[in-house]
Amino acid sequence: MRAVYSLFLTLLIGGLSFATYQFAFQRLENDALATSAARLSLYQATLRSTLARVAHLPRVVVLHPHTSETLQRGTTDTSFNEYLKAVNDKANSAALYVLDEGGTTLAASNFDNEESFVGNNYRFRKYYSDAIKSGTGDFFAVGVTTGRPGYFLSEAIYQGNEPIGVAVVKVEFRELLRDWKDAGEDVLITNRDGVIVLASNADKLYKTLGEIPPERMAEMKESRKFAGYELEPLAFGSKNGAFSGRVSVDGREFSVSTVNTAGIGWQLHYLTPLEPVHNSALGFAAMTFLLCGLAGFGLLYARTKTQQTRLKIIAVEAERVREVNVQLEKEIADRKRTEERLRDTQAELIQSSRLAALGKMSAAIVHEVNQPVSAIRTFTSSGLLLLGNRRVNDAKQVFSQIRNMTERLGAITSDLLVFSRKPVSRPEPVDMNDCILTMVKERSGDLEAADSEMTLDLWKKPLMVTGSEHRFQQLIGNLLQNAIQACEGVDEANISITTIADPTSAVIMIADNGCGIAEDIINQLFDPFFTTKGIGKGVGLGLALSYAIADEAGGRIRCENRSGGGARFIVELPLSSETVRDLRGQETDG
Ligand code: ADP
Repeated sequence: MRAVYSLFLTLLIGGLSFATYQFAFQRLENDALATSAARLSLYQATLRSTLARVAHLPRVVVLHPHTSETLQRGTTDTSFNEYLKAVNDKANSAALYVLDEGGTTLAASNFDNEESFVGNNYRFRKYYSDAIKSGTGDFFAVGVTTGRPGYFLSEAIYQGNEPIGVAVVKVEFRELLRDWKDAGEDVLITNRDGVIVLASNADKLYKTLGEIPPERMAEMKESRKFAGYELEPLAFGSKNGAFSGRVSVDGREFSVSTVNTAGIGWQLHYLTPLEPVHNSALGFAAMTFLLCGLAGFGLLYARTKTQQTRLKIIAVEAERVREVNVQLEKEIADRKRTEERLRDTQAELIQSSRLAALGKMSAAIVHEVNQPVSAIRTFTSSGLLLLGNRRVNDAKQVFSQIRNMTERLGAITSDLLVFSRKPVSRPEPVDMNDCILTMVKERSGDLEAADSEMTLDLWKKPLMVTGSEHRFQQLIGNLLQNAIQACEGVDEANISITTIADPTSAVIMIADNGCGIAEDIINQLFDPFFTTKGIGKGVGLGLALSYAIADEAGGRIRCENRSGGGARFIVELPLSSETVRDLRGQETDG
């Protein structure tokens, strides 16, 4: 991924640098061309002013009185030569001279030096023939005497209407060339034929920029325009083959700007070297490459760093998670061990509580059963003794006692049968109010013994339920017994029994103002063999039995502490369908 990113980045930076190069090159080239254009107009103006400065000189010479005289005489004197020299020097032209009718130089400004034109014949020159023919002439040529190129301007000298001679001035543009050279510029001037007639670089002089037709070449040869020079084409390369736009000369690239010089048909070419432009553009591109490279790879470095940091964080996080997992696994193992221990302990507890319950139950049963059994044993012995003594009536009484004892034993076992969930063999309608009255009567002795007052507030009508009368009596008896026992030692003990019939249930409430029930045991009261009483006083079966009886009849039993002290047990049993019907009927009647 990083390699791909690096490659992409390199390509992007490369592309950006290339674009920068292109853009910078274009801008710099345009700038250079603007400078070239300014230089060209300057040189064009200089060229024009140089020509304009000397253009009038042939006329000045024509108008001078000595000129005609000299031509008529056919010879010159020093003073006329001196005059030409003075004018030439003043005007800063290359040469000023007068030709006779046949083209031979009669007088010249350079009469006194070795390049003197005096005596030379120039009738082959176009400026001569044009002047003779039409009065004026102008011509560029390489000097046959001096070998230096120059521009010749001529004017015919007349006697009457007949031309008798020609006055000529030559300009050499030496100052212009010097300026170009000094400025290190590459400037060319081409004539109408495309021949380079002036060049800041001498190598290019008299080279041609295009094909010259053979007849034109012959003409030039005749006028000895470029005497001594072979006109060879300039070796250059360009896209369109013309000397314009981008051209390469001698392995160097230039951008060519060209202007026409009106009047003399010349063209000025300014060659802007593209090498410095190319170098500067390369510099910009290199700078872009460097800066973008630094930025790009800086970013890459920063990204890598961030990734490394993120990876480190992830690794630290993973390590933490691993540690937490190990810790969790340890805790789970600990918990499992604790659970196992707890289960073992619970099993042990269940075992021991079972044993304890069994122990309690055995003690209670043994206590309850032992008494009638030993009484039966005693009664049987005394019964047998009485029979031996033929005291039949007494023996009958004793046997009747024995029967009572066995009935009691039977009652105990039948109590225990309740827990075996054997259904009542023959359910019968039972009036709970009757049940209550019977049990109150039966326990009246205990009530008296406990010095407890009994308050009865019973539903006015029979409170009919379905089940075993004996069991319901047992239920009421148990609750009454507990209430009496709870009131033991309490001043102004009071036990109240209230019954009501709500639409479908017989509700029996047995309340006392006894000791009440401790909150921590209130949920265990109905457990079999739960008792707070000592052996002989209670076996913890009373409430469990009562619960089972109520449950068997489709009802329920619950207990609560009274706000003023003491406890209240509430039994709800389903009313018999007749009673429910009666109640509904009463409601409708009422
Ligand atoms: P037992 O009477 O043989 O102890 P029970 O099942 O009848 O067994 O009663 C269980 C326990 O409930 C009693 O030991 C006693 O602590 C508590 N209890 C029952 N009735 C009352 C009551 N009316 N007031 C206070 N505590 C009671």
